[in-house]
Amino acid sequence: MENFILEMDKGELHVHLNGLVSSELVIKLLNNNIIDIPQGFDLEKDLNIIKPAKSLSSYLKPWDLLRFVPKSRSDLTLIVFDAFENLRKSNVRFVELRNSILYIALLNEVNVDVAMAWLLEDVSRASEFYDIKAGLILTVTRGDYSLEQLRSLLNAYIKLGKPDLIVGLDLAGNEDINVSSALAYEFVRAKTEFGLKITIHAGETGNFENIVIAVNDFKADRIGHGTAAIKSQPTLELLKEKDICVEVCPISNRLTNAVGESESHPVIEFINNEVPFVICSDNPSIHRSSITQDYIEFYRETKSSLHIKKMLEIQKKYSFIKGLSCK
Ligand SMILES: [Zn+2]
Repeated sequence: MENFILEMDKGELHVHLNGLVSSELVIKLLNNNIIDIPQGFDLEKDLNIIKPAKSLSSYLKPWDLLRFVPKSRSDLTLIVFDAFENLRKSNVRFVELRNSILYIALLNEVNVDVAMAWLLEDVSRASEFYDIKAGLILTVTRGDYSLEQLRSLLNAYIKLGKPDLIVGLDLAGNEDINVSSALAYEFVRAKTEFGLKITIHAGETGNFENIVIAVNDFKADRIGHGTAAIKSQPTLELLKEKDICVEVCPISNRLTNAVGESESHPVIEFINNEVPFVICSDNPSIHRSSITQDYIEFYRETKSSLHIKKMLEIQKKYSFIKGLSCK
């Protein structure tokens, strides 16, 4: 099965650009730019999470450094091409990359629309070079400034003429922070007005109510992780009835401790309850891993070769990139 998985064509619907770029490249770029490495940070070790983290905040430690790259236009190009090179190694045929873009603008002292145009150009070139179809998802972080972030991203999107390459919106970050109804309203407005699809990181840290909010208030088309759905039968049924696809990231879920060591993975309950799902990798390079390893981990947990064999078709069905299903 491992060889079959390695060689099969794959789609990737949940991966963060910062978590896909190789740590070796990040170290090289950090060294070139002579930034002050935060105290107590070991470059060789702390950019990777290979054992279950004690908490989500300790899982997020690599981002203390990742937020210092790219420090130039050309560094961004290197990052994007390296990310696509990693996808190619796993035979990924289409990818939806996520990024919040605002830190790129801040780091390089350019407007958000400039940073967005850089990223779009690089993703478009790398997509063509590697023959991997691509879409970009704009990530908003949960917190006091979510609404400002979303508005600033949407303004840049409009200024650039609503590029087709941008396919969706994502909400990520600390799930304990309550989201405002104004934020949900803006997500839905973007969906209605611009046809952007919506995916929400929800139910990763144990709170199934965030999944219900994502579906009902944010009109989410897909849910990131959604592991807590198994705590609530009505939530599982809601996902099934509304045909909301869960982005299952087996390795990430173990390393963030969303799924504890002694627990079986919730994807087994998704299968039992006919909740649609896709296998994704989240932050493969942080895990010193790849989406191939996530498929292998999924197979180890479920022993379902049927889902592996059907996965590409399922990914095409739920992808935000248009036209994948048409032969
Ligand atoms: Zn994620």
